[in-house]
Amino acid sequence: MIDTTDFYGRTNEKTKTSTNLVQLLDCPCGKTPTELNLIEGSTCKWAYVTGNCCGEWNVEFRTEYNKIDTDECMKLAIDEWNRAPRPLKDENTDLMQLLATIDRFEKCFVRIAKAHGLTTPLELIAMGQDNEENYAEILARYIEKKMSG
Ligand SMILES: [Zn+2]
Repeated sequence: MIDTTDFYGRTNEKTKTSTNLVQLLDCPCGKTPTELNLIEGSTCKWAYVTGNCCGEWNVEFRTEYNKIDTDECMKLAIDEWNRAPRPLKDENTDLMQLLATIDRFEKCFVRIAKAHGLTTPLELIAMGQDNEENYAEILARYIEKKMSG
């Protein structure tokens, strides 16, 4: 098979690249593009690079006045593609799970409070000994007192 790609892995189509020689990082869509497409910006100073995975995420980069179909421009595009910060997908998933857990605890807490006759959070807040005491401590003290009495 004849390899028609150049140093930057570009196929003979001018503004596309494959990853034969250059390792591209994953796109936020979760896939690794096999080609990058360059899109001219509003001035010759800037351009956009996007992957053939989804074509949705694009990164703006400085062309340093190189023409969009040059190796230099593709190299800058690849650098910027790999350097650009990805949205925090995994961290967000963890955060969402944590928030869901907190939400379940809160519902549980509210049910316990209601089961012990506290219908509004204000009743609980009013029973605080000071501003430092948290709701769990107030509720625990309230329940202990109720059960012992
Ligand atoms: Zn993508």
